[in-house]
Amino acid sequence: MKMLDLVIVGGGMVGLALASALRNSGLRIAVVDKQQPAEILAEASPRVSAINLASERFLERLGAWSLIQRKQPFSGMSVWEKDSFAHFEVEASQFQQPHLGSIVENSVLQQALLASLKESSVDLLFQTQIQSVSENEQGMVLVLDNQQMLFTRLLIAADGANSPLRQQFRIPLASWDYQHTALVATIQTTEPHGNVARQVFTPQGPLAFLPLWSANECSIVWSLPVALAEELASCSVDEFNHRLAATFDLKLGLCELVGARVLCPLTARYARQQVQSRLILLGDAAHTIHPLAGQGVNLGFMDAAALADTLLQMLVDNIPIDDPRKLRAYERWRKAEAVQWLATMEGFKQLFSGDDQLKKIIRGVGMRMAAHSLPFITPLLEQALGLNGELPESAR
Ligand SMILES: Cc1cc2nc3c(=O)[nH]c(=O)nc-3n(C[C@H](O)[C@H](O)[C@H](O)COP(=O)(O)OP(=O)(O)OC[C@H]3O[C@@H](n4cnc5c(N)ncnc54)[C@H](O)[C@@H]3O)c2cc1C
Repeated sequence: MKMLDLVIVGGGMVGLALASALRNSGLRIAVVDKQQPAEILAEASPRVSAINLASERFLERLGAWSLIQRKQPFSGMSVWEKDSFAHFEVEASQFQQPHLGSIVENSVLQQALLASLKESSVDLLFQTQIQSVSENEQGMVLVLDNQQMLFTRLLIAADGANSPLRQQFRIPLASWDYQHTALVATIQTTEPHGNVARQVFTPQGPLAFLPLWSANECSIVWSLPVALAEELASCSVDEFNHRLAATFDLKLGLCELVGARVLCPLTARYARQQVQSRLILLGDAAHTIHPLAGQGVNLGFMDAAALADTLLQMLVDNIPIDDPRKLRAYERWRKAEAVQWLATMEGFKQLFSGDDQLKKIIRGVGMRMAAHSLPFITPLLEQALGLNGELPESAR
């Protein structure tokens, strides 16, 4: 039996970030994932994330950020409502920053985090999963499907939105269907994106164009009612290109689909417990939110940063890493953060859905006020950008 301090189940972006943050701690760590990490392809993958400045700082400290060649910083954001006077723009200079965030493919980020673990003692156990878990006073015994046995003091569930570990441990979950599916794809446009992230709100849902490293290429996240998303994913490429460019008000000229259209169903999830005895839920296993503000993995990275900071401090203070009081304090912090984002996203989703005339006026006036008097919206924007809020030490 292999003796470990931490087993991280899920070698996605969040699980690997935690492993990387603790790789020099002296803790004995293994990462278990049922799949091989995604390969980086020549063409951009349609699965990308907008990474905010707090996550950038955290990834920089891990030595992963500088390993990423394919990333696109954006220095402006432009948001408007279709068929309305509502329009809002911000630039990095308003926040005394060189840029507001960066767009990175998920697979590229995952590979950079893996590279940061090279030459560390972290065990990477891919293409295997846990068959059984039993707990005693000292820790947990895990049996993998290749019959390997692991003993660990803490078990980290970073196994994604449908977290098998969360289900196995019967952690209560609050969830609601956004009744939206996100259609994601890579798009070539006739006009260059100019390093600006753009989003239009339509009665059917928001459509974002996120700038990629090639001047005329963007990744889109188009949130739509399920039936409409399915129709747009299966219609001819010509029809798709026309409907996309028209919905986007031809802001970047004509659009041409590059590669596949991928559908991602959208559900809000909130695990009522993020710590249960020796089990800790992290990233999408603990919470999922609507992608309209691009905050999901940023929240997950802050979970990883906060947990790493907490455990490192416990080591310094000579406190056992499974001390329930310290782990509860960590849980309270992260739950408060997740609830705040879930509520904010729900508010946005409600306010921006449908054709209701009163809501339309509120949206128009709200965006005008935000555009003309930035302080009115600055705290929320700064938090989304990762410039303020209760940030973990390693992301400040
Ligand atoms: C359309 C869309 C757009 C988004 N855009 C943004 C954005 O712009 N910015 C942003 O911050 N967030 C965004 N998000 C959210 C972001 O994609 C997620 O928050 C992020 O991928 C979660 O990472 P994770 O590591 O927690 O989970 P995952 O990426 O799901 O990783 C989970 C890992 O666990 C493994 N696993 C699963 N089950 C098992 C098992 N039984 N045993 C072993 N391993 C297992 C999986 O193989 C996987 O590697 C978006 C989400 C969607 C759907």
